[in-house]
Amino acid sequence: MADSSSPLEGLRRPALPRLPQVHQIVLPTPWEVGPVQIYLVEGSPLTLIDTGVRMPASRAALEAAFDALGYGLDEIERVVLTHYHGDHLGQAQSLREAGARLEVWSHEDDAFLCENFSAERDENIEGTAALFRDFGVSAELIERQTAMRKQWIAEDPLCDATRVDRRLRAGDRVEFKDLAFEVIHAPGHTAGHILLYEEETGTLITGDHLMGNAVPFTDNYYVEGAPDPRDPLARRPRFQGLPLYLESLRALRGGSFRAILPAHGGILERPARAIDDALLFYEVRIQRTLRTLRKLCRDGGPVSAWQLWQQLFPKADPVTQMRTRMLMVIGALDVLESEGEIATERGDDGVVLHRIARGRGQFESSVTARSRRSCSESGKVGMGGVGVAR
Ligand SMILES: [Zn+2]
Repeated sequence: MADSSSPLEGLRRPALPRLPQVHQIVLPTPWEVGPVQIYLVEGSPLTLIDTGVRMPASRAALEAAFDALGYGLDEIERVVLTHYHGDHLGQAQSLREAGARLEVWSHEDDAFLCENFSAERDENIEGTAALFRDFGVSAELIERQTAMRKQWIAEDPLCDATRVDRRLRAGDRVEFKDLAFEVIHAPGHTAGHILLYEEETGTLITGDHLMGNAVPFTDNYYVEGAPDPRDPLARRPRFQGLPLYLESLRALRGGSFRAILPAHGGILERPARAIDDALLFYEVRIQRTLRTLRKLCRDGGPVSAWQLWQQLFPKADPVTQMRTRMLMVIGALDVLESEGEIATERGDDGVVLHRIARGRGQFESSVTARSRRSCSESGKVGMGGVGVAR
């Protein structure tokens, strides 16, 4: 973990020229993704969008920024959460405990985790172990990875659960006396991730969905319930984040956005480019997964996601760097299966295996073809690791 102090502590950037009621406040986190950017909307009700992690340096930075704007933390009347992760939900409950009589709003699909947050629940260690076992990771590696993650969560969780007073859905509005944001549901990174859109100025607050310095991991986990009776492989239903993430990005294309205010990585003045870059990031990885699958299948039978992982990331540590990369490989396979590019079966040991679908293998999505030139120009989207954010 990185040092929790940061040269950016307490930094408050100037208000947006087009939307002077909105202030970006930069708070430290102890994580690789760097500081988190939250937003104060000076309006009635006084509203904070996301809250930062719960740790002294973050609290001090938030207090300093509020001081500079002439407010006390106890004056916050509403908190709107883009999603439940620790650097967004983190301080909501401690603001309440400090005396703010505030409402917390989140999407209905993230509300349970906001109200019942625990590091154990967020890590979902047993669920992840079951998922990775089904996709071919060995019991020994899963055991080592599980032990490591249990050790991590024994540290301070940096986030408290809090009550959600309003459960949001797509199309709801976050209103002020002279301003309103529309709620856009953008699942993928989490099931209940939202974006907030201010139409007059074309401003889009994106949380971790679109960032200036990373692309989020997309979640993937078994949901409660029996195996799907329509699935010939009798697989358990899963939250499949990557197909949803790509769908929600594509829905943004062509939107008349003028600025993106993300949770990490500054302010993005070229929204269309940011959307295409995030799409391209994953499209490149999906294609690479397909090429690797084709190569491995030529040498033998169908292969597991874990075999693909090993081929795709030969230099990655199979314990500490397994999780987000496995989520990426499983996500890519989900996309390829939904596109009919690959066929899926079960091995004798129950492990899910994949092969190229008969008559397929020429997959190239339109966005990749269109974006290839901008990719080579910008050099921003490489073939390296997986972008992550908490
Ligand atoms: Zn997040």
